[in-house]
Amino acid sequence: MLEDKNQERTSLSKLGEFGLINHLTEHFKLYNSSTQKGVGDDAAVISQTGKETLITTDLLIEGVHFDLSYMPLKHLGYKAVMVNLSDVYAMNGVAEQITVSIAISNRFPLEAVEELYAGIKLACDTYKVDLIGGDTTSSTKGMLISVTAIGSAKKEDVVYRNGAKETDLIVVSGDLGGAYLGLQILEREKQVFQVNPQNQPDLDNYTYLIERQLKPEARKDVPELLKELEVKPTAMIDISDGLSSEIMHICKQSKLGCKIYEDKLPLDPQVISTSEEFNMDSTMIALSGGEDYELLFTVPISEFDKIKGNPNFSVIGHMTEANQGMKLVTRANQEMELKAQGWNSFDE
Ligand code: ADP
Ligand code: MG
Repeated sequence: MLEDKNQERTSLSKLGEFGLINHLTEHFKLYNSSTQKGVGDDAAVISQTGKETLITTDLLIEGVHFDLSYMPLKHLGYKAVMVNLSDVYAMNGVAEQITVSIAISNRFPLEAVEELYAGIKLACDTYKVDLIGGDTTSSTKGMLISVTAIGSAKKEDVVYRNGAKETDLIVVSGDLGGAYLGLQILEREKQVFQVNPQNQPDLDNYTYLIERQLKPEARKDVPELLKELEVKPTAMIDISDGLSSEIMHICKQSKLGCKIYEDKLPLDPQVISTSEEFNMDSTMIALSGGEDYELLFTVPISEFDKIKGNPNFSVIGHMTEANQGMKLVTRANQEMELKAQGWNSFDE
């Protein structure tokens, strides 16, 4: 649907493996002094002194995690980096390096891989992270991308999932549910396109949602902002699988319960109007729609004044004793069990 059918097609075999790696990586800049040696030797060398090293990795598989009929390759490259940086920021760290490994079938020409790397480079330049290595290989079918991000944080700054305390406030950055609805819109347009390829979709009412799905931004600014406000979260996690399932991780690991207030959930107007259009409950979507890549964290109640007026943050609830369970308090002031219906890669 979004694919340009008149692209040039240069066969990957023309460059050879080393030619390809060099072609793809030669224009990347190095931003971090911790990067001693990037691409080009048997291993990269990084040096961090007096800090903890944070490492996280994600594997994305065509047909499972992305669909190239509506995901432009440049966006895919960008997003593959974002999902990893988001995990580093969720530890309250600074992301400094990435490695990128790809497996590609001969269905893809050089121009396609260039697009992918254009997205990866944009992410590196925007977030000031260094591409320091990877691996390149062929696949019999489709495309696989694995990104590893490396970051650092002072020992005393690292925030785990298990540090929340009873009565801590639960805070979320940004707004919720947009990425999930963006995916629903793109899936719908794909179906329409398959029936009638002449149809030009009118996506004006969904621009924010589609952007949330195709071009998510990791919340690098949140750890920075918290530092400025002199607030250290007691626990933090990024929202890749939906709010419910992420808050459950914090509850389980911190051995506590929680109360989330329906009327406090931050929703963009497009999330509200599009939920109505799809006959879906916007609260359900905010709780269970994944891929928003916002940060969810807990802070002591004494920090309320520092958080409350900030347009980046919404206080959506508080932690409780474990025996109170995990509850959603509805607008009608009824308590319901929070269910984790977040995205799960083993679901059918
Ligand atoms: P080796 O044979 O030692 O595995 P490679 O030929 O695979 O080395 O890689 C050569 C260099 O290029 C290494 O620094 C490696 O990290 C880097 N590299 C390989 N593939 C990629 C890629 N897809 N993206 C970024 N760097 C890569
Ligand atoms: Mg290799």
